[in-house]
Amino acid sequence: MSKPKLKIYWSRRDFRLTDNPALTNAINSAANLGVPMIGLYILDPGLLEVDSQNIGSARRLFLAQSLGDFVHKFKDFRICINSPKEVFAVLAKNFELEVFANSDIEPYAIAREKLIVEELEQQGGKLNLYKDQLSISPNVVTGMGNLYSVFTPFKKSIWSDFLNLKSLPRINPMTALPDQADFVLDLQSYGLKTLLIPELIEDTAASIYDLIKRPDILTLDGGLKINVSELMQNLNIAPIEPANLPYVNEEQALEALTNFLEYRILHYKESRDNLSLEASLGTQNSQMSLALKWGLVSVRIVVAKIVTQFGVEAINSNESLSTYVSELIWREFYRYILYHHPLLLEQEFQPKFRQTIAWESGNKALEYFVAWIQGKTGYPIVDACMMEIANTGLMHNRGRMIVASILTKNLGIDWRWGQAYFRLKLLDLDEASNNGGWQWAGSVGVDPKPIRIFNPYLQAENYDKTGTYQLKWLSESQRKYKPLIEHSLARDMAIRRYGLAREQANPNQTPIFDDQIL
Ligand SMILES: Cc1cc2nc3c(=O)[nH]c(=O)nc-3n(C[C@H](O)[C@H](O)[C@H](O)COP(=O)(O)OP(=O)(O)OC[C@H]3O[C@@H](n4cnc5c(N)ncnc54)[C@H](O)[C@@H]3O)c2cc1C
Repeated sequence: MSKPKLKIYWSRRDFRLTDNPALTNAINSAANLGVPMIGLYILDPGLLEVDSQNIGSARRLFLAQSLGDFVHKFKDFRICINSPKEVFAVLAKNFELEVFANSDIEPYAIAREKLIVEELEQQGGKLNLYKDQLSISPNVVTGMGNLYSVFTPFKKSIWSDFLNLKSLPRINPMTALPDQADFVLDLQSYGLKTLLIPELIEDTAASIYDLIKRPDILTLDGGLKINVSELMQNLNIAPIEPANLPYVNEEQALEALTNFLEYRILHYKESRDNLSLEASLGTQNSQMSLALKWGLVSVRIVVAKIVTQFGVEAINSNESLSTYVSELIWREFYRYILYHHPLLLEQEFQPKFRQTIAWESGNKALEYFVAWIQGKTGYPIVDACMMEIANTGLMHNRGRMIVASILTKNLGIDWRWGQAYFRLKLLDLDEASNNGGWQWAGSVGVDPKPIRIFNPYLQAENYDKTGTYQLKWLSESQRKYKPLIEHSLARDMAIRRYGLAREQANPNQTPIFDDQIL
């Protein structure tokens, strides 16, 4: 007997109806054939563990809120709590299955996609993957036929294609699909665990969060564990609540984008690094990282809206507009790099720095790292930034650059520890951008420059001119901590740690780049 047909839109981090290639294709395919379609999210049991992947409570909360909202945009949406391989194996046994998903660029997700393709092929099913996370072609190469590893030529080569990215219109699963009231799918009867979806959005989000919430335990290489929830409690920092999230769904994210394009993008060039302004007026930058991370908005939509509102000529001639588009291309660049070099999550891009930097180790490393987490380095600008991420799950880009540079250069802590902490705490955690940022700050990544050494006092002078940002995040007593290491001493130690002392003696080959230039 032939199996009944079923189309599945497998959602992972694409909680949107506009410009969602997998969703559009799943709906069109189901509607054309008059076949039922369901939306599916799989809560991988790995997510329920504490916690080899360092998925922190803020990110878990965001997932619950955002997914809890998204499911109600469908006639039929299921949340399964099994491994994806198991879910698709069971469904493919019982249905003639066609699955639609947007492809990812992260190594873990790519490996999972391969597994599902194999599993479905064995059972006569099919997984259709659509280009999404990387908007440009992954095959762009230099004139010599090599992969790009420097940002500016990469940007120049994709600039006009990027401004020309095409997007799909919004599709509404409630109205675009034929009535499927007769279709009854009891996943539990196949032995799959499902989360029942209550009527109210709040209830759905709360049920998902109840299931996945875990304390923040940071796991570092070698199995070292740090109870970050406890550290935060000691600082009287409460866990993030739904009301603290900037937005959780597509409509709210698009509203945030519209506001940015209307009121702030034309000042982006001069305001983007201004921590004082941010602290006194609230968010000045676009806050699109969250929307892009969770797929509430696609980068193609962001670009299309800028092009429609201002035009290509203005983007090319106006420094604020072109700087903003350049930042979106940094994101694209890091995705392209991680896609081609999946080992980068663990390994320096530059071979000369692999296992050659004398990072701090033992108790001293732990003491410095915990002080950094708790905002107790004694460099007030660093401590303020660390309080921002602790309280909000987000940090201004300038702050991320400062704290990452100080952790690696001044405190001599391996960039992988910093990457892991951001992975645990950031709401907008994106493996490619996070890794790119950490490798950049640690001077070990792509786009090689001489080693940069940020001076925390100059950074504060330049980017928090009125001190408002530090005043906002630090208590009176926090402002009085003594630096763990005086900056000039830390600078000399960093030069030695990176093995650059000898090279520095040669004036023609000075690789040090002190940050008064930045
Ligand atoms: C150590 C470090 C870690 C980082 N980790 C992440 C991360 O996990 N997730 C993440 O989305 N960004 C990360 N970034 C990049 C950047 O800090 C954030 O994208 C930015 O702060 C988000 O705020 P925004 O959306 O208001 O940015 P805007 O200034 O409004 O920029 C617009 C968009 O451009 C992209 N963008 C801007 N700066 C960068 C950059 N340096 N690298 C890559 N893309 C960029 C983002 O998608 C951002 O939303 C990291 C940077 C550093 C230095």
